[in-house]
Amino acid sequence: MTLNQRKNKLELLDSRLSSLNYAQALIAWDGMTLAPKRSIEGRANALEGISSLYFEALINPQTQSLLCELKEQGHLLSDLERAKVDVLMEEYDKIAKIPASEYSAYQGLTAKSSLIWEEAREKDEYSLFEPYLEKVIAYQKKYIQYRNQGGHPYDTLLNDFEKGLNVDQADSFFIELRKQIVPLIQNIEKLEPVEFQNEPFDIHKQEEFSRWLMAEIGFDTERGVLAQSAHPFTQNLSRNDVRMTTHYQEQDLLSALFSTIHETGHAIYEQNIDPAFGLSIIATGTSMGIHESQSRLFENNFGRSRAFWDAYYPKLQSFFPNQLSRISQEGFYKAINNVQPSLIRIEADEVTYPLHIMVRYEMEKMIFEGKAKTSELPEIWRSKYKEYLGIMPKNDSEGILQDVHWSEGLFGYFPSYALGSAYAAQMHHAMDKQIDTQKCLREGDFVPINNWLALNIHRFGRTKSPGEILKYATGMDFDSSWYIRYLTDKCAKPF
Ligand code: ZN
Repeated sequence: MTLNQRKNKLELLDSRLSSLNYAQALIAWDGMTLAPKRSIEGRANALEGISSLYFEALINPQTQSLLCELKEQGHLLSDLERAKVDVLMEEYDKIAKIPASEYSAYQGLTAKSSLIWEEAREKDEYSLFEPYLEKVIAYQKKYIQYRNQGGHPYDTLLNDFEKGLNVDQADSFFIELRKQIVPLIQNIEKLEPVEFQNEPFDIHKQEEFSRWLMAEIGFDTERGVLAQSAHPFTQNLSRNDVRMTTHYQEQDLLSALFSTIHETGHAIYEQNIDPAFGLSIIATGTSMGIHESQSRLFENNFGRSRAFWDAYYPKLQSFFPNQLSRISQEGFYKAINNVQPSLIRIEADEVTYPLHIMVRYEMEKMIFEGKAKTSELPEIWRSKYKEYLGIMPKNDSEGILQDVHWSEGLFGYFPSYALGSAYAAQMHHAMDKQIDTQKCLREGDFVPINNWLALNIHRFGRTKSPGEILKYATGMDFDSSWYIRYLTDKCAKPF
């Protein structure tokens, strides 16, 4: 086969896999938003069919030799083609080393274990979930053996979600966090709750404001939509079709507000991917951590700043005059920056949030070092919450059973949430050197901000690794001190 023929085959493979991803993502998005209850079976069948087509297209001897040959001829490929080969080889390695029968048995196991987890959480009975958790962990340990090339066993899992991340780097990040933030949080003063949150906010008005705000801060409504789902998320089909969701609760304006701002950060990332990539497996965000950096930059660094609300608080007040006319902008600012240790990760403020992640990181590391049995996990959880956040869950539902991740086998995933926030602080600092971010926020002018993000981060899609993006955008390797400084400021003298 000539080089050109190989290149054509590469494009065909990329196009086929991207089309299958597109269909799968659309069905998944539909399932979380509009699909009727009884469509489950049909959608599950379709998804299964699509995933077996994906498997057949990628995992076969022809594809393997095509990718190996192209890898050897890397110097004759364009940057774009090289990136495609690298990403496809990574995808191939993730699946191909696992015996097919074990892979499909595991899919069945995680489907069952998430159902059991839900029941266990409802009944507050860890013992129901424990045997499944044990099996999921046993599979993960085998998975590591199939794929590990030396190093710490947990590295393989970390690397699946954040390419290049290993235990040494994650350790030094979390150790610094523990040293600097834990003592601050334990001395934090309790603030009076702000009363406006107890008054109902009309759902339609919340939606109207969310739509207005997301467009204001840069979401292109001709290339994406906003819908509702229980847990807000963003699903990209292509840069011209980004599906975003949020949720509205009458008693809680802030939840919708910050969910919308967070998801808009994810969505703008996807909308700004280089159009030259077309529909391709590289035309999406590069990693979980970099994606979270974009959503958290919008949600926290921008959305919880005084400057942001200089621009938007009068408008928010005009939407909700009865509830907000007597709340000053300063009062509102305090309400959205209230720092308070709490038990539930997804409801945590931005300062205590990374400590929730640290607990999970340390426990996952213990599990894969063989230092914690599943029977011991609830107690380890309690003691770590006591040690770091100064509070202890009364039961396992608000302790070890609160997150769905482990039931789905998502180990190695949590650290990227905290890393994302840390990347955001470093990026924000770099952005400040080149543009007057505060002025842009104060004036509600997101054009310079989004141009900077597109140029330095978004456009690359998966053609650069998380480390390369960070270095390109900030001129530095990862440095957690920007984040520690940001958190220390918020915690020590937030107002
Ligand atoms: Zn997110």
